[in-house]
Amino acid sequence: MDHYLKAHFESLKPEELEKVFAYKCGDWYDKVDEQDGWLKCGQCGVLPRTWCFNNGRYATCLCVDKYDEKPVRTESVLSIRKRTGLTVEFKPDNLRLRWNVYAETGIPQNKLPEGCW
Ligand SMILES: [Zn+2]
Repeated sequence: MDHYLKAHFESLKPEELEKVFAYKCGDWYDKVDEQDGWLKCGQCGVLPRTWCFNNGRYATCLCVDKYDEKPVRTESVLSIRKRTGLTVEFKPDNLRLRWNVYAETGIPQNKLPEGCW
């Protein structure tokens, strides 16, 4: 991500940002609130969007395109239940914490242990 693109994304009006997100990641991703402790991506300069469902938890930004692997992923609740028989290990905040590592380092946080999803 070059500095020109980052400055471009940071300057978008909210409705323009919606269009870019719809194009680059799909319109089913949810916004997050900066007040909840989400950092802006150090590469593309925007807050992430998330997609959380029983079989997957993802956070993405404008660094990647629609069909690319998302930069941040955590284990889904059903994967945890299959692996442990319980859901007590499930921590909803893990997605935000891993996202913030990506936001600060630019290193994707999307690898899960073998057999987890
Ligand atoms: Zn980004």
